[in-house]
Amino acid sequence: MTHLKSRAEIEKMRASGRVVARTLRLMSEAIVPGKTTPAELDALAGRIVEEAGGTPSFLNYRGFPANTCISVNKVVVHGIPTNVPLEEGDIVSLDMGVLLDGWHADGAWTYAVGRIEKEAQRLLNVTEESLYQGIAKARVGNRIGDIASAVQKYVEKNGYSVVRDLVGHGIGRKLHEEPASVPNFGYPGKGEMLKDGMTICIEPMVNQGTYKVQTLPDKWTLVTSDGKLSAHFEHTIAITREGVEILTLEA
Ligand code: MG
Repeated sequence: MTHLKSRAEIEKMRASGRVVARTLRLMSEAIVPGKTTPAELDALAGRIVEEAGGTPSFLNYRGFPANTCISVNKVVVHGIPTNVPLEEGDIVSLDMGVLLDGWHADGAWTYAVGRIEKEAQRLLNVTEESLYQGIAKARVGNRIGDIASAVQKYVEKNGYSVVRDLVGHGIGRKLHEEPASVPNFGYPGKGEMLKDGMTICIEPMVNQGTYKVQTLPDKWTLVTSDGKLSAHFEHTIAITREGVEILTLEA
């Protein structure tokens, strides 16, 4: 059953979300093309979260071996931070969660490493905007399918594809809770009804080419089947009678 949060509980999640947003920003600002490695960014994230009094939600989650997921170029999500420096022209998705005072928040953002190709920048712009198209449909009385179809329509209109194998999710005391699936594809008017106090993660994963993905032998890393680029943007949001609130913001 979906646990509907009180206003006080939403405020707790907002505190976690602030740490997520701040950590993502500080990680992105630390990137020096040709020098910084994902493993260094992951260690930085661990320090920032610890200083804030929190715990990285992903560490040891189902055995995940790092604080954050760092996914470069054709890696869709769940990249394990490597010691390979980020290079000028790469795109890098930083995905992380924070557990603070018993409540989780989860967010992701894809960043350009130095100067990137125009086509790569367009992929980032479209994926980011698709997240906001989905958030705009997150209203009490709407259904999950309204969010899902808004994301999908915007992405496909722009010539890209939406990953099917992974979806957004409910969040709160647990990193993943009911509603178990907030897809980025689907039909308006379908799925669970959105209610006052629902907290969910909307997280479009958008591919330049085919939506098909493959898991690498490490059993975590998900890559595009055709080797083309993939981007990922995610916010934790609260749906209330007064409107939707993005919880993974710094202020
Ligand atoms: Mg998530």
